[in-house]
Amino acid sequence: MPSSYLSFRFRYINEKGKPTSFFYHQARIDDGIGIRLGEDSIAIADLHEVVRYGNQIAMILKPYLTLHKHISENILPNTSSIVIEVGDDLAADAKSAIDQHRTAFSSLMRKKQLVAEGRGYQFRVAQCPDCEAVIDLTDRKETPYVYCKYCEVLFDKHRELMPKSEDYKVCPECNYYNRVQHYPEFHFYALPKQRKMAYKEHYCCDTCAQRYHEQTAWKNSVYLLGIPFNVRLKNKMARGVNQLYQGLTEANRLAQDGKIVEADALYGLLLLRNETHPAILFNMAQGFYKAEMLDKAYRHFEKSLEMCSNYQPTLDFLELHKGIKWKVIVG
Ligand SMILES: [Zn+2]
Ligand SMILES: [Zn+2]
Repeated sequence: MPSSYLSFRFRYINEKGKPTSFFYHQARIDDGIGIRLGEDSIAIADLHEVVRYGNQIAMILKPYLTLHKHISENILPNTSSIVIEVGDDLAADAKSAIDQHRTAFSSLMRKKQLVAEGRGYQFRVAQCPDCEAVIDLTDRKETPYVYCKYCEVLFDKHRELMPKSEDYKVCPECNYYNRVQHYPEFHFYALPKQRKMAYKEHYCCDTCAQRYHEQTAWKNSVYLLGIPFNVRLKNKMARGVNQLYQGLTEANRLAQDGKIVEADALYGLLLLRNETHPAILFNMAQGFYKAEMLDKAYRHFEKSLEMCSNYQPTLDFLELHKGIKWKVIVG
């Protein structure tokens, strides 16, 4: 079990997404108590799922628990979840401390269970070099890479991260692997009597940002004010693309638009530099799927699992489309 602990400040969030108090309370995560929230606590074993969005963390609790007073008061209506806002920019650290404890606990339970079934020798785990979550690999084939679904990185047998793995993920908008970052989204709305401006951040990949850029460039040309923001967006897109992934943004865009012949040629070049990359194989598979070339799609999904047997985006895609009769081909 990890011996790390973390203290932070938090406020409960209500169903309208607003804090329920002006002041923050103290929270602490450690081995002995689990998660202490003010005077109350939640045992690690009682967490069903934990999700972070920005500085908020949602904890979905196992049903029918007897909860401490303040925690039960803050359960959101019709759910078994609480949401907290974490102060001082510590939400990502808090989430990963919870993940460390949760995964260490559940792998211990898994080991006990396997030992009880006389299969203790099959127990296999890896610890993520980035967030230190313990990843259960029992019943998974041994492959060159391991995926951490908690912080979405890929790493090898020596616990070396794949190049730029912290910045490259499956985009929450288009589901393709690429560099994902916060982009400013900029819109002007021309209304008859008033001019309204909206400015917000967008978390997406370079391909999606390129599409936004084209849309907003057109809109902003009407109101020159918007141009500096668009230049900023364009600069952000161009900056710091890893050499290994040169061409990935274009390849993904072609694949998403169903232009698989052109996309395939670009992916081919990318694979020369990253021949065993499970996520590039995953993108290719999605491209073939989009172009309705199901046999090739399946072969590439399979290849991505041969490189990383627990690659969750591929497993999720296959699970979601399990109704399809994939034709398995060799080669
Ligand atoms: Zn991780
Ligand atoms: Zn995207």
